[in-house]
Amino acid sequence: MLEYDSRIAIGVSGGKDSLGLLHIMHRLGKKFPNSELVAVSIDEGVRGYRDEALDIASEACKSLDVEHVVYAFKDLFGVRMDEIASIERDLVPCSYCGVLRRRALNKAALEVNADRLATGHNLDDIAQTVMLNILRGDINRLHMMHPGGKRVLGFVKRIKPFCEIPERETTLYAYLEGFRFQELPCPYADEAMRNDARSFLNRMEVKRPGTKFTVYRTAIKMIPTNENPVTVRNKCKRCGEPTSQEICRVCQIIESLS
Ligand code: SF4
Ligand code: ZN
Repeated sequence: MLEYDSRIAIGVSGGKDSLGLLHIMHRLGKKFPNSELVAVSIDEGVRGYRDEALDIASEACKSLDVEHVVYAFKDLFGVRMDEIASIERDLVPCSYCGVLRRRALNKAALEVNADRLATGHNLDDIAQTVMLNILRGDINRLHMMHPGGKRVLGFVKRIKPFCEIPERETTLYAYLEGFRFQELPCPYADEAMRNDARSFLNRMEVKRPGTKFTVYRTAIKMIPTNENPVTVRNKCKRCGEPTSQEICRVCQIIESLS
């Protein structure tokens, strides 16, 4: 997942998982003096929610003396999530936000010259995403979920160091470490289907301990082990970013909104 001299961009949202990851990577980094950490936060433009999270993230980075950069949707795409949520649109806000955030994180990681982009997704998150992809019939997305990251040309390798840590343990760690984290949920969170997957997996875990780990391991086994980088065939005709289509999803979204 990591090299001794990796320059790691950590996506820090201000929540318990990403801040826990920041603390642990910072501690581990002391044993690897050639490695470097930089925290990356994305300001989606959600007033009253993201502002607080960014304050918390910035305070944590200052206390650990970790470089911190913030990229805003408004600067990158000319639009804030508050504006997207307020207009008539085809999809729920998270569907737009997820695509734009992935682009913003990758852009930030490229610009800070990182060779890894680490996120705080835990075992529960990943098991839920596996279930969601199966329920939506979107099996192709499974191969992008590998916690060790897939090499895709034009993208910084995304890794998920907490992939085998249950959420109750990341929560416990946050309380034991005693750092401040954001507990307020995003006002646009459309978690209907994820909530179903979460409660199903939690019920199964009580009845049959180890279910979440089994779901996660099964998904990993389904991912091709080919180490060659995935080549993305096209460059977007609008923005030049790699895409499998003629116009990338980000440009399609921006066009549909305007
Ligand atoms: Fe974006 Fe949805 Fe997350 Fe809010 S809950 S920050 S809208 S992805
Ligand atoms: Zn584009």
